[in-house]
Amino acid sequence: QAKSTDGQGYFLFDDQLREKLQQKTMIAKYLHSALENHEFVLHYQPQVNAATGAVAGLEALVRWNHPEKGLLLPGYFISAVEEAGLMTQLTDWVIHEVCRQLAEWKREGLQILRTSVNISNSWFYNRNLIPMLRSILDEYGLTPDCLEFEITESTALLEEHYPLLQQIRDEGILVSVDDFGTKYSSLNYLKHFPVGKIKIDRTFIVGIGQSSIDETIIKSITFVASQLGYDLIAEGVECEEQVDFLMAHGCKYMQGFLFYRPLPAGEIRSLLQTSTAASKTEMAESKGCS
Ligand code: C2E
Ligand code: MG
Ligand code: MG
Ligand code: MG
Repeated sequence: QAKSTDGQGYFLFDDQLREKLQQKTMIAKYLHSALENHEFVLHYQPQVNAATGAVAGLEALVRWNHPEKGLLLPGYFISAVEEAGLMTQLTDWVIHEVCRQLAEWKREGLQILRTSVNISNSWFYNRNLIPMLRSILDEYGLTPDCLEFEITESTALLEEHYPLLQQIRDEGILVSVDDFGTKYSSLNYLKHFPVGKIKIDRTFIVGIGQSSIDETIIKSITFVASQLGYDLIAEGVECEEQVDFLMAHGCKYMQGFLFYRPLPAGEIRSLLQTSTAASKTEMAESKGCS
């Protein structure tokens, strides 16, 4: 709510607010055409097995390649996408684009990796999701184990989604809880909810070596994950001290700037070329999917 700040009924906005509003208008205006003009691109952040250094998976992260402003991060436009009612459309595009990209790498003979997509709550409503997912995977000749859906705790808590999430899981797509630990202290939903994997939020990782509370929370999460049989990964790992702590407490999968930043598809291709060549010579156990 804007306040009259000059005593005469005029609204004087501070610079930050003005910029925010301009941003919103700009975004709302251009979002529709951005989708049509293919201005969204995906970067992929590798997920690493810190025990071996091997890349174990990828997370697809959307960027908006704005014609004037350049490459914009999701923090700049995701909430506007949601407000403009375009989130479902964007998510559909991300899923298609991930599958298209994986199929391309596969055609090139590369060993492809399971790739996760961030799924917003609104995506689940009123649609024939299972047939849709089957037909996308079919179209690109991929198996469901290529995909992972990251949902947030707010979505995980909505019981109305459970049947659908169970179907997605039965389909063979891994479901993970993103930013785990940030929204709700109740772990009750884990009892009913078909989770396969938990992502420990970066805000706790930052506290390693700084905050014994954060460290205790991380230890509790790793305990819960191992007892309940969930895959586990730590997000936002930036230094060796964090790696050591996480390894010591049984969390060996990590994602963070220490290993890789989110990278354009071209750089991921080079990474896959290296790892595919290595695994061929080593005859290592396949970590890929088809
Ligand atoms: P997220 O899903 O938790 O993704 C992780 C974010 O943390 C990414 O930011 C990534 O670049 C950043 N990150 C990774 N490692 C580090 C690190 O070591 N240090 C720091 N400081 N940051 C790190 P990004 O790409 O800006 O994405 C932000 C959020 O935007 C995502 O958080 C996700 O909630 C949302 N988002 C991104 N792409 C999509 C999408 O396709 N669909 C939806 N619905 N949301 C998306
Ligand atoms: Mg995520
Ligand atoms: Mg996250
Ligand atoms: Mg996060």
